[in-house]
Amino acid sequence: MIQLYQPLNFMGMVYREIKQAVLDIETMFGILDRPAEILDRPGAPDLAVRQGEVRFENVVFAYDPERPILKGIDFAVPAGRTVAVVGPSGAGKSTLSRLLFRFYDVSGGRITIDGQDIRTVSQTSLRAAIGMVPQDTVLFNDTIRYNIRYGRWEATDAEVEQAAALAQIDDFIRSTPAGYDTEVGERGLKLSGGEKQRVAIARTILKSPPILVLDEATSALDSYTEREIQEALERVSKNRTTIVIAHRLSTVVGADEIIVLNEGRIVERGTHGELLDRGGFYAGMWNRQKEAEAARETLAHAAAEG
Ligand code: ATP
Repeated sequence: MIQLYQPLNFMGMVYREIKQAVLDIETMFGILDRPAEILDRPGAPDLAVRQGEVRFENVVFAYDPERPILKGIDFAVPAGRTVAVVGPSGAGKSTLSRLLFRFYDVSGGRITIDGQDIRTVSQTSLRAAIGMVPQDTVLFNDTIRYNIRYGRWEATDAEVEQAAALAQIDDFIRSTPAGYDTEVGERGLKLSGGEKQRVAIARTILKSPPILVLDEATSALDSYTEREIQEALERVSKNRTTIVIAHRLSTVVGADEIIVLNEGRIVERGTHGELLDRGGFYAGMWNRQKEAEAARETLAHAAAEG
């Protein structure tokens, strides 16, 4: 009985590992409901990235035909520039990144990269060109080294460590019991939200994609961690076409253009300075967020004192 039990037990373990990996990938992209299957057109060529310009042209989209989510979105991210998308919860910000990855197809309009409609190229080449730092990074039940190398399997140990240093996570890794060989994930060392996000940034640095999507965490980080992550993100997005889905407005101040989304439409656009001067939707969001931050800091001070 024991002889039979052991291989069965082993197979169960393998099954659980595989299931976990599939779940990890799904969670990583925030897809909990399975989208309708998106297929490559027969003989679809690979995407040819030249400069890396991304365009959303009059994009219309609904998950459910009864409920339109994006109602005609038009913007371009010039090669090497950063565009930030802000707006209230549910406005459709993360939906834009799911469409760029082609987890769903647009219902109207089109998305292009260097002039190529993303529906006409192979999905493998599309996804290889885009690096994603998601809101909640899911770590694999493996070592920190494995989790970073996931960005590019052929990377050497030295390259993995260099990417970690650029992502400001190297010192932390060295302080863990087995350094880069420390097991993380469900059964290993638990990392904080900010640490996981830096692992994701290190992965992306290794992958070195021409186009980046940063989906910022909604949860409040302490201001020290936020600054560290901000610096790491600035490094990785330098000279790359970058779309930042932003929840904290402090991270969009330096963007080349800010798109303000509300109920599936662009209601304002411009630089941080222009939008503040306008005194409209964005300025209102900015002031409310500043007040909330001030209130949080006063509370934290009061708690620290006593
Ligand atoms: P947040 O700031 O809270 O992350 P968001 O602006 O990124 O919000 P999205 O995640 O793009 O918002 O969602 C836009 C709308 O689409 C929401 O009303 C959401 O309920 C709906 N939605 C998102 N994913 C799905 C899905 N898989 N099926 C159906 N509706 C969805």
